[in-house]
Order: sequence, then structure tokens, then C-alpha cells
Amino acid sequence: MTRVPVATCDTLLEQISAYLDGDLPEATCAAIEHHADTCPKCARVIDDFRQTTGLCRKAATTPLPAQVRQLAKARVKELLAKKSPPGGR
Ligand SMILES: [Zn+2]
Repeated sequence: MTRVPVATCDTLLEQISAYLDGDLPEATCAAIEHHADTCPKCARVIDDFRQTTGLCRKAATTPLPAQVRQLAKARVKELLAKKSPPGGR
């Protein structure tokens, strides 16, 4: 039984953070992409990261510039902090 480590939007963002540290296994990459397939919100976020960092595939062979990494991580933090409270409005 293989449980993917990415189940929710929150964990996805956290995984992205790990990815930015160059610490993301291929399986997690796939899980992230799978989640994005079913979650338009995260798909947008990932799309953003793809343009910035080349999520997963390219990044495996291309070291991420520290500057880009910091920017992206700040973005993740922002997104995690900004997630809407349940039942707002
Ligand atoms: Zn999501």
C-alpha cells in the first residue's frame, strides 16, 4: 500500500516548501501533480511555481537559485497563512 504524502492543500504547500529545499522525492512530486489535477486552486499555485522554478521535472537537474527559492518559500508561507477560515462569508 502506497499512501501519497499529499492529501490536502495545506500538505501540498508544505511539500512544495520541501521541494524548494531540494528535498522532494519523485513520488511526492507525482502526488503534488495529482492533487493539482483535482484542485484548481493548487493547480494555479503550482502553475505559478512552474514558471518560477520548473516544478519537479526540470528542477531535478537544475539547481534552484537561492533567490528564487526564497521568493517561492515566502509565497508558500503567505498562502499557508492566508488560507480562508471555514465558513467565512
Ligand atoms: Zn489543493
